[in-house]
Amino acid sequence: MNPTLTFHGAAGCVTGSCAELRTGDARLLVDCGMFQGSKTLKALNYEPFPFEPSSIDAVLLTHAHIDHSGLLPKLMRGGFRGPIFATAATRDLCEVMLADAGGIQESEVRFLNHRNEQRGRPLIEPIYTAKDAARVMGQFERIKLGETVGVAKGVTATFWEAGHILGSASIEVHTAAEPEPLKLLFSGDLGPGGSEFVADPRGPSGVDHLILESTYGDRERTEADASARRRLLAKALVDAHAAGGPLLMPAFAVERTQELLADLLTVMDSGEAPQGDIFLDSPLAIEATEVFLERGWNPEAGRNPFLDVRPSSRLRFLRKPWESDGLERLKGWHVILAASGMCEAGRVRKHLKRLLWRKEATVLLPGFQAAGTLGRLLADGAERVTIQGDEVRVRARVETLDVYSGHADARALVAWAEGRRPIAGSVFLNHGEPEAVRGLRGRLIGAGFAADQLLSPTVDTTFRLGAHRAEAEEGAQPRIAPEAASALDWHNARAEFLLALNQALEEASNDAERAAMLRRLRGGLSKSARVDAGQGAPTPPA
Ligand SMILES: [Zn+2]
Repeated sequence: MNPTLTFHGAAGCVTGSCAELRTGDARLLVDCGMFQGSKTLKALNYEPFPFEPSSIDAVLLTHAHIDHSGLLPKLMRGGFRGPIFATAATRDLCEVMLADAGGIQESEVRFLNHRNEQRGRPLIEPIYTAKDAARVMGQFERIKLGETVGVAKGVTATFWEAGHILGSASIEVHTAAEPEPLKLLFSGDLGPGGSEFVADPRGPSGVDHLILESTYGDRERTEADASARRRLLAKALVDAHAAGGPLLMPAFAVERTQELLADLLTVMDSGEAPQGDIFLDSPLAIEATEVFLERGWNPEAGRNPFLDVRPSSRLRFLRKPWESDGLERLKGWHVILAASGMCEAGRVRKHLKRLLWRKEATVLLPGFQAAGTLGRLLADGAERVTIQGDEVRVRARVETLDVYSGHADARALVAWAEGRRPIAGSVFLNHGEPEAVRGLRGRLIGAGFAADQLLSPTVDTTFRLGAHRAEAEEGAQPRIAPEAASALDWHNARAEFLLALNQALEEASNDAERAAMLRRLRGGLSKSARVDAGQGAPTPPA
């Protein structure tokens, strides 16, 4: 049979990376990541996998980010016993990240179950625990960049530098299966190149099928070398200081945080930016920093650039919750870095709750914000947001700083794809929101790729792989409608509606007007609700 490739995530959206390659002899996953974004999308994390975990022979892991690795402990709980191939740095970062994700699972489920009990709803189970995360580490097998390893019957893999974060790799896969051998290349997340922290992305040329990430497929960033990046960071600090401070940066705990810390210390020490205390308020990022100090050697630079995260009297690592709570009493200018990068979990939400309504505060978003996340709502200019059920008015300055992005922009993606030519078969554009995928598609056609060579998979679609083309299989039952993967859902709509309602009630001139407003809305609800609402409710339009 021809091999097949199924996209179980990161198709029409940027999270939940998981591709299943099936040959006559073997079944492999490339990545097994968690979904992030709307509640509808995140609900997939709790549902069973759309395949039998025990039938998977091996996992090839591109990098440690949780949207690529976050469901590995769940896979193991479901019966997967095979090896997980990853670089040494990816393995070490996963050890801290998965343990943290398990801990977050446990505490969030405790919080949710408390509410479920109050509301008389059934209790839920964590997807996995910190213990499961520790257990799955026993299945990791280290693989070096450039080394070709047999990963399952009739399948070999070679990892290439992807330049996205420490340890990140693109993965070349050879299948010896009938009817003909195939060479596939999974880009994983690709870095922008030209960074002093990670190497430039590389890859083989001449592949049958290319699976290409599209995160920034519709966006070209201003090119910024290391010193230009620091100048922009310094400017953001000067502005935040002038507004009265403090500055809060929701940062990805792995790579972004360490790069920012190194540069924050540099621009403060050089006097380019106002000096002040820098608090790293993320136990995960603190632990990950140890991995960077140990494994961050950059062969191109001939040094470990993360050693710039040097001991400094202005850099404070906050491990204990009470140390984090102490920040509330702090006045004046200081900088806080806290995870998670898209404001979905972790201590950053607590700081947003207490700082967003203060107009002297600045929130600086240094990474990509996926649709449906709190970070994206802020980046898009929301005036009010709901954080853990509490409504918060946004009066702080909210800025973005995309020069610290770990992703290649549209131009760099096209250049990287061109470097992989000749490509005999198809190019799958995954890991991108629909607009980004369309943007990249247009650019690739402009660069000479044939339109019928470019495929845009959606979640749970399967393709049959021939040597010269891939064809979509009919009849798949996706777990989520393609357009829902990166759209706001009814939970988002409800939150937005309630915020608008509260604002309208506040602004109404008297109580009679408020009561009339509520009566009208009540009248628009279902028939039983209309009966409940009693007399006085106007008849709603049909
Ligand atoms: Zn990533």
